[in-house]
Amino acid sequence: MPMIEDILNRALKEIHAAANLAELDKLRIQYVGKNGELTVQMKSLGILPPEERKAFGQSVNTAKAKMEAAIEERTAHLQQNARPQGPELDVTLPGRRRWAGRVHPITQTAEAMKKLLLGLGFSFDDFPDIETEYYNFDALNTPAWHPARDLHDTFYVGKNHEGHNMVLRTHTTAFQGRVMKAAGGRAPLRAMTTGRCYRADDIDASHFPIFQQLDAFAVGRKLSMADLRWTLTELAKGLFGPEAKLRFRPSYFPFTTPSAEVDVSCVVCKQEGCALCSRTGWLEVLGSGMMRPEVLRAGGFDPAEYQGFAFGIGVDRITMLRHQINDIRLLYANDEAFLRQF
Ligand SMILES: [Zn+2]
Repeated sequence: MPMIEDILNRALKEIHAAANLAELDKLRIQYVGKNGELTVQMKSLGILPPEERKAFGQSVNTAKAKMEAAIEERTAHLQQNARPQGPELDVTLPGRRRWAGRVHPITQTAEAMKKLLLGLGFSFDDFPDIETEYYNFDALNTPAWHPARDLHDTFYVGKNHEGHNMVLRTHTTAFQGRVMKAAGGRAPLRAMTTGRCYRADDIDASHFPIFQQLDAFAVGRKLSMADLRWTLTELAKGLFGPEAKLRFRPSYFPFTTPSAEVDVSCVVCKQEGCALCSRTGWLEVLGSGMMRPEVLRAGGFDPAEYQGFAFGIGVDRITMLRHQINDIRLLYANDEAFLRQF
């Protein structure tokens, strides 16, 4: 049967050379399909002399089996090496950059301050964002009738299981009472915390209902404004460089007396005067003071024996000064393109 032999050899060669599954399917139809070359041969069986039919039929069936086996083998081979559908891979294209996650600039600033204060002997801990009205206000000499409460635009969030009014803390200063209570009257005490604070402020370039503070305080014997000033000077030099200077201005907070707003020499113009410092050469950075007797007493310390100093810093503000960011909303928008810069 030289004819069958020819068809088989040609088919095997083409099947082996088929470049993809579509081509292979065409070959299958061409040879062993309903009207394929081999199928047509089988149909001619009837016109052969009876003594030749058996041998002819066998040779067609053998050829068909070999072709089908070859197709199967080639199919498996092509599937194994199949490339994903789509355009050809262009290995000359530049790679796609995968951006690594990074620490948020607010956290970077908070960590820098934390590290400096840890070096000065302050311990660190986290405290709850949802705070009792007592620790947020009363323990800080701000009872319900106190006008300072109105300035805080507090979010009240109902009562806890003991029936106490709960608020979203309006300042991290709320941690003072908890730390003093845990100390059980033992001094010296140096503690700090940092975290989110919340006030129902209208949003603009310098106000956001969520902001981050860092608070620290110390309780001991013979503590004075000099200790406060030394601590803050060390902190400012660590944050803004060794030439940073501080200026104390009298101020008022319900929980400290005397109280001082503290300015740092402008980080941009070195006190020559620029837009950032409104040509004054100074930038307001924090509030501070000596802890009031009422606050020490509420914390279990006898103010006749112990003194304390305290300060609170807006971490957002320091972050904005360090990186010259002019809008607080940028810090809370979670825009990757913005955050990638830090
Ligand atoms: Zn300036």
